[in-house]
Amino acid sequence: MSSIEAPVQEELNPFAIAQEQFHTAVRYLPDLDPGLVDYLVRPERLITVEFPIETADGQVQNFVGHRVLHNSVRGPGKGGIRFHPDVTADEVRALAAWMTWKCAVVDVPFGGAKGGVACNPAELTESDLRRITRRFVSQLGDALGPFVDVPAPDVNTNARTMAWVYDTYAMMHPGENNLPVVTGKPVDIGGSLGRAEATGRGVLYACQRALAQGLVDGLDSLDGATVAVQGFGNVGATAARLFAEAGARIVAISDVSGGRYNEEGIDMDAAIALRDEAGVVDGLVGTEPISNDDLLALDVDVLVPAALENQIRADNADRIRARFVVEGANGPTTPAADRALYARGIPVLPDILCNAGGVTVSYYEWVQNHENEQWDEDLVNAKLLAKMERATDAVIATQSRLNGTLADLDRQRGERGLNGEPLGPVDLRTAAYVLAVGRVAGVALQRGIWP
Ligand code: GLU
Repeated sequence: MSSIEAPVQEELNPFAIAQEQFHTAVRYLPDLDPGLVDYLVRPERLITVEFPIETADGQVQNFVGHRVLHNSVRGPGKGGIRFHPDVTADEVRALAAWMTWKCAVVDVPFGGAKGGVACNPAELTESDLRRITRRFVSQLGDALGPFVDVPAPDVNTNARTMAWVYDTYAMMHPGENNLPVVTGKPVDIGGSLGRAEATGRGVLYACQRALAQGLVDGLDSLDGATVAVQGFGNVGATAARLFAEAGARIVAISDVSGGRYNEEGIDMDAAIALRDEAGVVDGLVGTEPISNDDLLALDVDVLVPAALENQIRADNADRIRARFVVEGANGPTTPAADRALYARGIPVLPDILCNAGGVTVSYYEWVQNHENEQWDEDLVNAKLLAKMERATDAVIATQSRLNGTLADLDRQRGERGLNGEPLGPVDLRTAAYVLAVGRVAGVALQRGIWP
């Protein structure tokens, strides 16, 4: 989350934002039972654990972690584990809810979940992180499981972390095929080929499809497009490299050390090599520094926020000059910023569609693990492409359908005694929510409310 003070008073609690997004969408689903609405907005379960570890320097340090299962109607909980100093229960609640809607948008048979441990990996050693992971997973116990809740990487966690998750769970469940308990594992421990770059690749596929569908006037492909990418972790760096391979000119990138700019285009191989060697892109040869605020305000064709939540807000949305915002991160745009960008005709490809490539290939990994198979990378990518294109088309079609039937929807609301302002046209986020909430509610009703 950003630490920048917002001069305009705006709610920045991620769970409040997730609830607001949900309630906005529900207005376009007048048939939804109010009890079902209340159920779908709240998480099914929140587990908070506190535990000590002995760090490499011999100190005992305590940590707090959360795991939220937001909804399991469509399948086991699915979602990453993040390590970050700003992790809170409400952040994890929001991220878990976004996973429910994300899995429904791309139509993979999972519910939504998320986990996080409040810690600063920059100040911890590898063995500290291994102990934190093991204690966290062991305290969650059977709240995780291949058919219960399946973690994956997120901010500051990676395949190595997932190997520890797997190993800890396998120690607790000897004699079983435990591989499907976690995804994003190293390839030689049951990880899927293509998983490491799947989120960034999915961002590319969704963006290309949206452009080909004419979402941005005068920009039908990434060939020759200028792009700024905020965040150079797994998602941002992969997306930047793949966008460059698709013919785009990456003029700016950034990470915790600050931003780098080159109007002629940044050499992605050099940037990734420096990140791998030094940990940050600070001082990248052939580029000049740029502040985070200025990067977001660049006059580019495509802006890819791929860092953390609340980056585009009420107080800086007016400065955005990009023609298209493509969300690699979860929750980078606040509702007030969504409204401001929509009013200015800048489409936002929402996180729950745009960054769903990661969980899509997580699903493929889970299937491979159950079947003891390893699919070729080309097959994984081809299946990912098909999923992302279908989901992008479905969101765009839902937006057109809703915006073409506003009067009808208003009439249905009136018939059901639902008051409030007349419905206005929806942006892509609300369309994606309507699609997702409709799918989850539909399955809940088909299953029947138990008992
Ligand atoms: N953490 C990723 C996300 O936010 C991936 C989740 C997963 O693969 O389960 O979508």
